[in-house]
Amino acid sequence: MAEDRLACRECHFVNGPDAQTCENCGSSSLTEDWAGYVIIPHPEKSEIAPEMNVSTPGSYALKVR
Ligand SMILES: [Zn+2]
Repeated sequence: MAEDRLACRECHFVNGPDAQTCENCGSSSLTEDWAGYVIIPHPEKSEIAPEMNVSTPGSYALKVR
């Protein structure tokens, strides 16, 4: 599967393919080298969100290299 979206190395937020900086935390440390993701639509109701330090709804990469 070709995946050209960019995951943030800082917060794991999955950004669009043309992103220059992370929409979630503003970091410019983005990478195409990531695997798997979870969609967290309601961080306040999610059990995994606190574990991943997620407070913004969105897609988050599970593994970022
Ligand atoms: Zn980020």
